[in-house]
Amino acid sequence: MNTALSQHVLVLNRLWQAVNVCTAKRALTLLFQGHAQVVLNEPDGSFRTYSFSEWRDVPAGTHEETVHTISFRIRVPRVILLFAFDRMPKKEVKFTRHNIFERDRNMCQYCGGTFDRKDLNLDHVIPRDRGGPTSWENIVCSCIECNTIKANRTPTEAGMHLIRKPKRPKWRPFVQINFTLNHHDSWKHFIDLAYWNVELGEDVQA
Ligand SMILES: [Zn+2]
Repeated sequence: MNTALSQHVLVLNRLWQAVNVCTAKRALTLLFQGHAQVVLNEPDGSFRTYSFSEWRDVPAGTHEETVHTISFRIRVPRVILLFAFDRMPKKEVKFTRHNIFERDRNMCQYCGGTFDRKDLNLDHVIPRDRGGPTSWENIVCSCIECNTIKANRTPTEAGMHLIRKPKRPKWRPFVQINFTLNHHDSWKHFIDLAYWNVELGEDVQA
């Protein structure tokens, strides 16, 4: 394969979240088929998107890699934005201890303090023996002190208030990016955003 065609391209979903890495060959196919646009960093720090025909007309700098076809020469994209989610595997946010800590940002949902993970418990808002499920909507991070005060009571009974109502997170985990790949500078913005969505696969024991 042409080495330019095997370059790694970062794939963003419609919400501009990094979801995958593909080859330049795949990226150019998605672009040509109208399923994706190229994302380019502008000198002012913003991002601009290009359709296939617009991208074909973007001149490549001398240091840019290009692919030659019979009729034209096209620059290798570094980042593409998909129009549809279904071009790449979808993933539910796994209900894991790690993801609960991520959702609650290591903050006790009763007192609002931020703690090390080792100093946080996962609390059933409605206690388990009162029929409270082990679910996104009924599990929150709680510091040891709040957990002790609350004991086996509902927040109302304990006179405590949740900082926010627990919900299933809307973000999708960052699933298939191999962090050991050499990252192009243009990936940095999206990789940094995606860092917090890494799924570590620690399963919560119900
Ligand atoms: Zn607390």
